[in-house]
Amino acid sequence: ITTKLPAVGTTIFTVMSTLAAEKNAVNLGQGFPDFHCDPKLLEDVAAAMAAGHNQYPPMPGIPALRDAIAAKIEALYGRSYSAATEITVTAGATQAIITAILAIVRPGDEVIVLEPCYDSYVPNIDLAGGKVVRVPLVPGTFRPDFDKIAAALTPKTRAIIINTPHNPSATVWTEAEMRQLEDLLAPTDVFVISDEVYEHMVFDGARHESVARFPGLAARSFIVSSFGKTYHVTGWKVGFVAAPAPLMAEFRKVHQFNVFTVNTPMQHALAQYMVSPQPYLELPAFYQRKRDLFAAGLAEKTRFKLLRSEGSYFQCVDISAVSDLSEAEFCLWLTREIGVAAIPLSAFYGDGFDQRVVRFCFAKKDETLLAALDRLAKL
Ligand code: PMP
Ligand code: GLN
Repeated sequence: ITTKLPAVGTTIFTVMSTLAAEKNAVNLGQGFPDFHCDPKLLEDVAAAMAAGHNQYPPMPGIPALRDAIAAKIEALYGRSYSAATEITVTAGATQAIITAILAIVRPGDEVIVLEPCYDSYVPNIDLAGGKVVRVPLVPGTFRPDFDKIAAALTPKTRAIIINTPHNPSATVWTEAEMRQLEDLLAPTDVFVISDEVYEHMVFDGARHESVARFPGLAARSFIVSSFGKTYHVTGWKVGFVAAPAPLMAEFRKVHQFNVFTVNTPMQHALAQYMVSPQPYLELPAFYQRKRDLFAAGLAEKTRFKLLRSEGSYFQCVDISAVSDLSEAEFCLWLTREIGVAAIPLSAFYGDGFDQRVVRFCFAKKDETLLAALDRLAKL
């Protein structure tokens, strides 16, 4: 058949998780926790089901959850979104992102992505008939290059997708960088899709710079987040989008026909769980400790050069001192021969650009991280 996505195969996450299972490797590849969520959250799901919350919820999500999301955004980022018209519950961030893209990108529109970027963005733009404009983050530091972004803007630019904290590099945009983006877009009609799924994982006292904090960005932005990341339940596939009412109206037109609604009992449980005692406030310290444990072990036991993990649950390392293999070959070799799975950064670039960097996920039990470090010490 004539394929709509000729460049697309199976995602790197599926490939590496399958290989890791086959080889009995410690899986630090695909980003998901190997520990349980709070048992209270499970009780809330069971209670919601037992109470009969098992039929279709309202199309944009149950009001209690939208209220809780709006309250959280206002408390954290100081911007008020209407739960009625500006917030929609989605089937994870993945569905939120493709829905926002389908809602705004018309055939021939240009959409700027900053590479390396999460692997769903480019196929999503392709499916909308948009033209992908790839702008590299600065090699080595993975910071945004505003001269390059400015040079990529044209009258056909419809949107830019940003992601902070960043998957895969683990950088976190600063307030000054957000202001630079705000200033750069001020004279344009460009929309922003702001992927903030790691909003609660920012380390060393830094703060998450949501587009919600910047009026000039918020007015043109779809904010995307994911309960999977925040509450250690990636398999639930529940997330949300916040956007000004006119943007959200377009979003919902697509949402109602690609998923219509998101599972009801999880929404009730999350609404119940979110109001107090705000468990996401503990996440920075929780993950910073894991980052430090893993990074200290890597520094002590391996010759990898560590990149700074400022946020997210990823630690990137430069493999140059350890191997001459390409990143992609190295990750396959590491899984098969050493028994630890990682993700090559080349998977986040259109042309497979090899920066000699691979990504480990440290959202794992300490014993899992220590087992991986024992194996990596053999390198
Ligand atoms: N964006 C980024 C940057 C991610 O890392 C992920 C999770 N892998 C997603 C979106 C998708 O999130 P969800 O699992 O909620 O669909
Ligand atoms: N977001 C996770 C990662 O980057 C998992 C993505 C997926 O499995 N599609 O590893």
